[in-house]
Amino acid sequence: MRSVARVDLDAICDNTAVLRARAGGAEVMAVVKADGYGHGMVPAAHAAVRGGATWLGVAFLEEALALRAAGLGTPLLAWLFSPVEDLAPAVAAGVDLGVYTPAELARAQQAAARTGQTARLHLKVDSGLSRGGAGPDAWPDLCEAAAKAQADGSVTVVGVWSHLAFAEDGPAHPVNRSQTERFAQALEIARARGVEPQVRHLANSAALLTAPSTHYDLVRPGAALYGLSAAPDFGRPQDFGLRPAMTLRAEVALTKRVPAGAGVSYRHRYTTAAETTLALVPLGYGDGVPRAATNSAAVLVGGRQRTVAGTVAMDQFVVDVGDDEVRAGDPVVLFGPGDDGEPTVQDWAAATGTIDYEIVTRVGGRVPRDYVGGGR
Ligand SMILES: *Cc1c(COP(=O)(O)O)cnc(C)c1O
Repeated sequence: MRSVARVDLDAICDNTAVLRARAGGAEVMAVVKADGYGHGMVPAAHAAVRGGATWLGVAFLEEALALRAAGLGTPLLAWLFSPVEDLAPAVAAGVDLGVYTPAELARAQQAAARTGQTARLHLKVDSGLSRGGAGPDAWPDLCEAAAKAQADGSVTVVGVWSHLAFAEDGPAHPVNRSQTERFAQALEIARARGVEPQVRHLANSAALLTAPSTHYDLVRPGAALYGLSAAPDFGRPQDFGLRPAMTLRAEVALTKRVPAGAGVSYRHRYTTAAETTLALVPLGYGDGVPRAATNSAAVLVGGRQRTVAGTVAMDQFVVDVGDDEVRAGDPVVLFGPGDDGEPTVQDWAAATGTIDYEIVTRVGGRVPRDYVGGGR
């Protein structure tokens, strides 16, 4: 196969079980937005549910509806929609909605009226990320309006939640302390206004792994499900008992001998030092291979790691394999768990100045996913 992202569903299942054990009494919401961080949303969701996730979380309504259409019946939260989107299909499908403002609350009530179903809401407080959620000034009014709507039967406040800015820095980080405190205060304010949610939730993967005080009733891991290093300063994935789920490979499309001094790929950003063999790899930035991998990231080919030689193009890049016996059709592994000496996704992130989340999530639609495992 020209290229393939192998996705180990047993790894996702087992990682979920590890996270569930780590969450103590809290339930696990498996975050499968952005096509399951590139792993495939529906297969990832099924694997996480098998591993013990009792909730699913996504950003957008279409993602939630696609999960419902695929037969996933767990509680399911979607937390980001536009001011013009119709919330009725989500309410009808029993999708929980993240609500940040009284205007969104009103739209959820209208959707409830139209569908004849109660809208299930999670009120979000902005505890310091300054992204979604009601700020401290707006929070009491949002709670009051939600309590009223709940009293008239159109909505149920299922959750109160927030999101951390520095989770990967651990619980001692001052912003984490302040956000955790503000979250606790927001819960008090909600209670005083008559909002007693079934679930309170704050922790993403890093907080789940490093800060038990953030676990509350429900945790929302994404990255860790897929075996990514959500809290790199506290350990590699394997230090937490997590296994990377994705291996990105390709087949060498062509090899050729070139003389010393050959300029390679656009703008000749690499020049051969001696007569050598170049191997062409049929993956490029159109497939999510970062252009920043130019002359920096490594791949496993011919039994050893070789650095990308020259500019990554839309569909292809080149590696200089020296005098190794590499032929067209030979396997190239960009990243994987590292078991066979291949680079890891963390190596790719470090080489290209980003985080592992971005590397896997951007693996594009041209790369077929090959699912293995899944029987557990
Ligand atoms: C993406 C996301 C998560 C999951 O974060 P990870 O760091 O991948 O565990 C949790 N909560 C919210 C609100 C998110 O947007």
